[in-house]
Parts: sequence; C-alpha cells; structure tokens
Amino acid sequence: MQSLSASVSQQKSQDNNYDAIVIGSGIGGLVTATQLAAKGAKVLVLERYIIPGGSAGYFEREGYRFDVGASMIFGFGKQGTTNLLTRALEAVNVSIETIPDPVQIHYHLPDRLELKVHRDYEKFLQELIACFPHEEKGIRRFYGECWQVFNCLNAMELLSLEEIGYLTRVFFQHPFACLGLVKYLPQNAGDIARRYISDRKLLKFIDMECYCWSVMPASHTPMINAGMVFSDRHYGGINYPKGGVGQIAQKLVDGLEKAGGEIQYKARVTQILLEKGKAVGVKLANGKEYYAKRIVSNATRWDTFEKLLPPEQMPAAEKRWQQRYTKSPSFLSLHLGVKADVLPIGTECHHILTENWDIMEEPEGTIFVSIPTLLDPSLAPEGHHIIHTFTPSWMEDWQGLSPQEYQQKKEAAAAKLIHRLEAIFPNLSDGLDYQEIGTPRTHRRFLGRDDGTYGPIPQRKLAGLLGMPFNRTSIPGLYCVGDSTFPGQGLNAVAFSGFACGHRVAVDLGL
Ligand SMILES: Cc1cc2nc3c(=O)[nH]c(=O)nc-3n(C[C@H](O)[C@H](O)[C@H](O)COP(=O)(O)OP(=O)(O)OC[C@H]3O[C@@H](n4cnc5c(N)ncnc54)[C@H](O)[C@@H]3O)c2cc1C
Repeated sequence: MQSLSASVSQQKSQDNNYDAIVIGSGIGGLVTATQLAAKGAKVLVLERYIIPGGSAGYFEREGYRFDVGASMIFGFGKQGTTNLLTRALEAVNVSIETIPDPVQIHYHLPDRLELKVHRDYEKFLQELIACFPHEEKGIRRFYGECWQVFNCLNAMELLSLEEIGYLTRVFFQHPFACLGLVKYLPQNAGDIARRYISDRKLLKFIDMECYCWSVMPASHTPMINAGMVFSDRHYGGINYPKGGVGQIAQKLVDGLEKAGGEIQYKARVTQILLEKGKAVGVKLANGKEYYAKRIVSNATRWDTFEKLLPPEQMPAAEKRWQQRYTKSPSFLSLHLGVKADVLPIGTECHHILTENWDIMEEPEGTIFVSIPTLLDPSLAPEGHHIIHTFTPSWMEDWQGLSPQEYQQKKEAAAAKLIHRLEAIFPNLSDGLDYQEIGTPRTHRRFLGRDDGTYGPIPQRKLAGLLGMPFNRTSIPGLYCVGDSTFPGQGLNAVAFSGFACGHRVAVDLGL
C-alpha cells in the first residue's frame, strides 16, 4: 500500500502541472491568463463568483441586463497601441462588436456649468472655451500637453516595465517617446494644469475631469493616467460593447478556453501556499489545493496580503505601499429600470452631477450616471431604459445596522438620489419600473474587494505614478495584477496591467 506522503506528493505533482494559476477573473486577471495561454502556458483561473468579470460583470433582473460597475469603456479603438481591450481579445482570436458613444460625459456642475465632452476633440475644446473664453490659450496648452503623453504611450507596445529586455528594445525603437514618458512619470495633472490655467472655476472643472475616474482631484492624479484618458476619448473614443460590459469577460473566457486555458467558478481561494517562502500553489475554501510554477493574484493588494497570506508576515515593501496608498471609498449604486419617456430628447449616455464644488469629493457629493440602453436598447425590455447611478460611499456608514435599519437606510439613500437626479430627468420618480440598490457591503460581497473599495488612492500627494507597484511582489513566484498595480483603476488600465503581468510571467517561465 502506498504511504501517505507518497500519495500526497503524487497528488501534488498531478496538480502541479500548471504554469500559472490566476486568482480571480477580473479583466486584469483574464488579460494575464489569455496572454499567457496565447504564448502556450498551461493556465488555470480560479474565480470565487459564478461568472467572470468582477467589477466588469453584469446581472439580470426582469428583462434588464445591468452592468455591475464599469460602463464608460476605453481601449476599444482600432489603431495605435493603447487599444488594449481590442488587442487582448485579438490575442486569443475573439472580438466584440462595439457601439461608439458620441459624447463621453455630459457634466452638470455648480453655477449652471453645463458641458459635454464630445468625441470630436475640437468640438469639445470649442464648448469649453465658450465657457472660459479668457482661458483659451491655457485650455489648449493643458489638453495639448495631455496629447504629448498619449502620443508617447501610443507609439510603443505596452508591456512590462519590469523587463529590461523590453525596456531596452522599446528605448532603441522609440527613444523620444520613452524620454517623454520618463519626464511625465513623476508629475501630476494638477501641477501641469496650474502652469497654464488660473481661473479657479476652470481648475475645479479639471479637478472633476480627474475625479470622475481617479476619485482624486487633479493635484493627486498622475499625469500619465490623465494624458491617457483626456486624449484617448477623442482618439480611440468611448465604445460600448454590444450585449453589455459583461461581454468583455465572457469573450476573454471563450478565448482563454480556445487557447487551452481553464477556468473554474465558485472556486474561492482562501490561501496562497508557500514553500520555503516561495508561492507554489493555492488552497480553495473547499479544501482543494492546486499547484503551479507561478501564482498571480487579481484580488486587491489588501485582500492578497492580509487575507490570502498571513498578515503578520507582510513583506516590508507591502507595508510601505500601505503607508503611501489607502483604500478609496466604495459606491452606493442604484440600478433603475425606467419608462423610456423619462429621458428628455437628446439625452447622452453618461452624466456627472454635483451641485456644490465644496462637497465634490465627499460621500454622495458627486453622482455618476450611465444609461447604456441609449447605445444598446437590447439591454432593457422594449420602451424602457436602464439608468445606473452610483456615488462614493464608505463601508463604515453601512455597518452595525439591523436588517431592517439597513433596508430603510438603502431606501432613504435611493430616494435622495432619485430626487437629485430629477434635476436632469424631471419626471424620473413617475417612470420607475424596477429598482435595486447596492451598498459598499454589496460590492464587498459580490466583488470580493476589501471594504468594497474602488481601488487604491494616494494617502498624500505623491510624485505621479512612481509609487504604484508593478506586477512582481516581494514573495518569489507571486505576482499581482489589476487595479492595485500600475497604472491603476479602469478597464483599459487593468488590461495594461494584465499585458504587463502576462509578459513578465512569460519571461520568468522562459516562454
Ligand atoms: C461602480 C463602478 C463603476 C466603474 N466605472 C468604470 C467605467 O465606467 N470605466 C472603467 O474603465 N472602469 C470603471 N470602473 C473601474 C473598473 O471596473 C475596475 O477598475 C476594474 O474592473 C478592476 O478590474 P480588476 O481586474 O482589477 O479586478 P476586479 O474587477 O475586482 O476582479 C477581481 C476578480 O477576482 C475575484 N476574486 C477576488 N478574490 C478572490 C479569491 N480569493 N478567490 C477567487 N476569486 C477571487 C473577484 O470575484 C473578481 O471577479 C468602475 C468600477 C465600479 C465599482
């Protein structure tokens, strides 16, 4: 009869034949997995939920298909190198039909400042200059400098900045673009905006332009990210995936499987297994263990280093990172199904509303609105639309409540949001057909993100993106991918992180 240790090691060697295990199927995790599978690696993705996508997932209720979070999608351009979602899909021979959005955001700001960011760059500038004619030169110079950042990024293949062979190659191919990026890496958008612009209201507008995706004012938003967002919206544009945002993850999974990779759902990793300090495998909630040459975590850094690994053994580099970056708030999300006549003629897909600059960054201070059915009517029953609204909210404000108190608080918060939204959609409360409210607790539960956070934000003003970690960690064999790695939040950003992680792991595996 086989000894116990022999059967354990046989079991381990059977399960040890993966090149890489990816914990989580957010877009960061799936891009890593598909990049690796496309290079011939044997990859296993373990996802705790029942579908892939994480914050880019979806849910269906009464004929509506709601996006969980992301809906303003960058990265589906047709040219250049920054169209990372298009490229990630192509790498595994899949594609998605997308619908171009003619306006990125319709802003509804204090003092009746109403502005649309048109896909057409000059049209956007004209609209902004009409509001601030005395700042025409400053406006053109600030957004012009954003283009310089973007043009540098868009000239080169975006892979791992931790890989010296790639860095050398790209430097010799594009020396000026590289030097341009090095210059901007430690800078924040606010410092550059203040160089050219002095009107306080216009600077507030630029704060909002940053806040709506970085959840930080311009002074704390890295110029690299600002350059990317403020230019790509006019270059590749904002494009909505037909069938909903959930399609992106679904298609990546199709591509992963076509390329020989595997994914398991309802597979919650509870522990990253270490041997002599090296990450060698994972243990699931059901007790099953899997082993691989490389382990990649798509969970947030807080979840990875405080829950999947013993917090008391947290590497010094992680402790330093936690001193520099903190968790941003989560969101209060309101998913509405409404009668079509609620929307005034000419309504745009994405809106941002704040009534008072002083509370812009406070919980519930700014409201984000997305109406994807204006682009893809198939997501709602005929004659109806989806209005997805969300606003920053802290976990602390939703804890310690009885089930009844929790329900009442959710309903009161939803009623308040609907009332505020009536500034844009005057008859909203009369046209409600379906309503579902999510809180930071919902985000934590369904997305597996510590405190339901949207992602890391600097604790204090930092030098641009220099403090954001890349994919390798202090633990040999363990990598992180997703929004708590360079370059941060957003689907195209985590796709960048996925390309970089896939590249770094492939080089380490000798592929
Ligand atoms: C309300 C909201 C609106 C947003 N709007 C936009 C937008 O308009 N445009 C945009 O570009 N971005 C937007 N974002 C941001 C964007 O969605 C995220 O930055 C991005 O999706 C994060 O991807 P990720 O790969 O880092 O991880 P996540 O999406 O967090 O995915 C991680 C995955 O890992 C799984 N997981 C975690 N722990 C484990 C474990 N222990 N075992 C197994 N699986 C695990 C999770 O279930 C999840 O599927 C929005 C986000 C939110 C919340």
